[in-house]
Amino acid sequence: MPALSKSKNNTYRTLLLKKREELLARARSGPEALSVSVQSPDDMEFAVQTVEQDVNVTTASVRSRMLKQIDYALERVAGGTYGECQACGEQISPNRLKAVPWAEYCLTCEELRSRN
Ligand SMILES: [Zn+2]
Repeated sequence: MPALSKSKNNTYRTLLLKKREELLARARSGPEALSVSVQSPDDMEFAVQTVEQDVNVTTASVRSRMLKQIDYALERVAGGTYGECQACGEQISPNRLKAVPWAEYCLTCEELRSRN
């Protein structure tokens, strides 16, 4: 039995694709911003730049992890299992899906997992 109606699934699919676009757009602008700061290795600004680069690396890894989660969520939309908790199979609440459209687990399982 389909967990969510088709139109609901389309709404989440649109949300996921939009978020995916956002992340990819930021990924495209990322390396440029980085090379600009490397081109001016001013001693005075070096420390600041190092910190900025660290932040860029962090956001890049967070971004690629998020992209994977979004891709996985899109697969679940296509497969008709979107909105089901991957651990217990319960429905993830619509409020949670609206806030985190790529959520794989219901709030209960997410909390259990983050505790482990
Ligand atoms: Zn669960």
